[in-house]
Amino acid sequence: MSQSRAWMEVNLDYLQHNVEMIRSTISKKTNIMAVVKADAYGHGLEQTALSLFEAGVTNFAVATLDEAVQLRNLLPSTDILILGMTSPKEALTLSRLRLIQSVFSPTYTKALAIAAGKAGVNIQVEIKIDTGMNRMGYAYLDTIHLKEIFSYAYLHVHGIYSHLSVADSLDPIDVEMTNVQVSRFNQCLAQLKDYPYGKTHLQNSGGIINHSHLIYDFVRPGIMLFGIPSGEVKEIGLKPVLELKARISMIKTVPMNEWVGYGRTCKFATSRRIATVSIGYADGYPRAVSGKRAPILINGHFAKQVGNVCMDQLMIDITDIDGIKSGDQVVLIGTSHDKAISMDTIATLAQTITNDLACSLSLRVSRYYQ
Ligand code: PLP
Repeated sequence: MSQSRAWMEVNLDYLQHNVEMIRSTISKKTNIMAVVKADAYGHGLEQTALSLFEAGVTNFAVATLDEAVQLRNLLPSTDILILGMTSPKEALTLSRLRLIQSVFSPTYTKALAIAAGKAGVNIQVEIKIDTGMNRMGYAYLDTIHLKEIFSYAYLHVHGIYSHLSVADSLDPIDVEMTNVQVSRFNQCLAQLKDYPYGKTHLQNSGGIINHSHLIYDFVRPGIMLFGIPSGEVKEIGLKPVLELKARISMIKTVPMNEWVGYGRTCKFATSRRIATVSIGYADGYPRAVSGKRAPILINGHFAKQVGNVCMDQLMIDITDIDGIKSGDQVVLIGTSHDKAISMDTIATLAQTITNDLACSLSLRVSRYYQ
């Protein structure tokens, strides 16, 4: 850490605390399927998955085959569901590594069944139902095609699920939309009641927090595991797992009416003390906050980001803060003394969501786990 230019500190105790918070929110009958796609939302798959496993989580979901293979190498005996599409040509890998593949359309399922048959292997699948998001999934009333899935000799149905599109909103219109999705999912399950569809699951983070009365076999938390749920959700005592830090590389006095940074976007009517910080948009700190005077913490004081964020560096105004020297740490997301900057604050300034910002933090940012 002492050598690093830009780094994140990932608190695995907080990750495990968040698992407990989820457990205390959901029914005792329901289990957690941890969504750790995109390198565990930028927090590092290996360390976070092992920590989740230590906390008793034995079901995981990822987006891609590569992510699933990485996870299988770490955790040989867990259930791993691939949420996205995997080429049917990978039938052997899916089977050999005991991965569970989502099937989401009649065409895809048929292709996977044929590939499994040709390879002479069995594949576990979970059926993805579209209840109103219109991204992936069988139409919830497409009974004919849904029943067909159970006729494929080489496919074994392990579960059935859908995905909520506005569960992270408490706006009554959005709550109504979620209720419609829930009712459609239940209708679909009722139609298949004579078929062995296995485990059921529906709720993402927003669904877990805002619709905690729902009871299925699993919940699928992603962003809330990391303590930074997006949208408008109730407070349930989650702790942000990640802090983002960097160092001051240089301090200078910029005379009045001189421009700071690319693009001639920022100058001051008086001379200012400007510090250059060793992190930029190539590290994942969003360029979109440029000009928004984003807060940055230094030794327990708030400074403001000024000018355009550069690829590897950004500038902050420290005129009103005494005792700052080059090499000092700055906190871009996290706490310093009694002050804090949340991931949501920076995501909102960048007009995005915490999920996007967390996943955008690049591998160039060193990672420290505690
Ligand atoms: N389930 C599915 C199908 C997803 O695509 C995602 C993430 O986008 C999740 C669950 C987890 O969502 P969240 O991060 O909002 O908890």
